[in-house]
Amino acid sequence: MSPNAIKVLYRLHRAGYQAFLVGGGVRDLLIDRNPKDFDIGTNARPEEVRRLFKNSRIIGRRFRLVHVFFRGEVIEVSTFRASPEPPEGPDDWEEGEIEEREAESPDEPGPKAVRDDNRYGTPEEDAWRRDLTINALFYDISDFSVIDWVGGLEDLDAGIVRVVGQPNIRFEEDPVRMMRALEYGVRLGFELAPETDAAIHACHALIAEAVPARLTYELMEALRSGHAAGIWERWDHFGLLGKAFPELDLDRDQILPLLRCVDARISRGGRVADATTIAALFLPGFARLLAEMTSDGQRLANAVFLDRLRAMLEPATTHMMVSNQSFHQMYHGLFALTKMRRPPERGRQVLKLTRHESFAVAWDLFEIGTEVGLLSGNAKDAWCRAVEQVRKKPTGKVQEVVVDPVKRTRRRRRKRRPRPSESTS
Ligand code: ATP
Ligand code: MG
Repeated sequence: MSPNAIKVLYRLHRAGYQAFLVGGGVRDLLIDRNPKDFDIGTNARPEEVRRLFKNSRIIGRRFRLVHVFFRGEVIEVSTFRASPEPPEGPDDWEEGEIEEREAESPDEPGPKAVRDDNRYGTPEEDAWRRDLTINALFYDISDFSVIDWVGGLEDLDAGIVRVVGQPNIRFEEDPVRMMRALEYGVRLGFELAPETDAAIHACHALIAEAVPARLTYELMEALRSGHAAGIWERWDHFGLLGKAFPELDLDRDQILPLLRCVDARISRGGRVADATTIAALFLPGFARLLAEMTSDGQRLANAVFLDRLRAMLEPATTHMMVSNQSFHQMYHGLFALTKMRRPPERGRQVLKLTRHESFAVAWDLFEIGTEVGLLSGNAKDAWCRAVEQVRKKPTGKVQEVVVDPVKRTRRRRRKRRPRPSESTS
């Protein structure tokens, strides 16, 4: 268990508060898996937690919780609550602002703060508001016991994913729980409880009402999990995908091999950037665009291609609330692929591409796209050699990047067009 989480638990406990490890941390420790993160539940109020930890911050607009910062790790501490409301989406987090306001007038919350005292609850109420029984176990630091109010231990033993309480009601409260139930089933290799299964079939259409940022958050969690292909299939099987992400290309035959490829990289211990995995979902569309734009055998006009690329990416990424930074990386990463269809022509081209901030995304997409056969791998060896040279001499000069000489002489040099800033208009 994380020494930092233990530190937080003990400090809360010694200060006279209840302190439990909650959620996925308990679940994973009980089945001998490495927890992704450690969440702590306590009866201390956010301000009280904040006072105990100098290295902490209150976050959240609708319901406040505390992030305690350690080197390379954040421990999330939340006060027990009774509210059955869905948890905060990433867009509900406003780090800093709330804390600053409270420092100014601790007893007078400003207009945006929610008086959440009446939504605090007991540990048991906190367990009942959670999504799945296996996610509602509490580990009590005061006597090292696991407390199970909802039957989570039995389900964990039997390998069953079961929604806490009445599944239909819980899905109406928060449709994202349907996606989560299926996701944990795949990640843990568990079966769905029959009533949970039936309720997803009955309620799947509700997913269209979920907040897009939260859907994207769950999608990202799935893509990072190393089980993206399996989760995607389950979401598709229950009819959630098309309603959750109406703008995405959902052609299974094309998407599933891509996701398997991403999963394989993650299970080999590789890191795949979020921008890469989202962009990978657009590779089939990108390949069609490439084929269409080059079918006449002409060299691509960059500006036209970029316009079409943006038109392909923008509706979906806007709907999914993909951050500007990720969009930028996807857009430039995909565009770089147009350059990698042929062997590099000049050292300058290699340097320019490899030094671009989205090159890591481009390179991963190139490998994934060629592996599944969506992109041509004809120039792969030449690019690998060139990139290898740059890696060996990261500060090297253009002359030091030697590209395939045959290709270099074969192409006529084009006259450089003036940049807009150089034009006279
Ligand atoms: P992991 O971090 O491995 O994905 P986790 O169970 O910790 O798994 P988180 O998304 O970190 O999942 O959520 C932490 C806990 O918050 C969950 O274990 C669950 O108890 C609760 N939770 C998360 N999402 C919901 C939800 N939509 N409705 C109710 N409870 C939720
Ligand atoms: Mg977690």
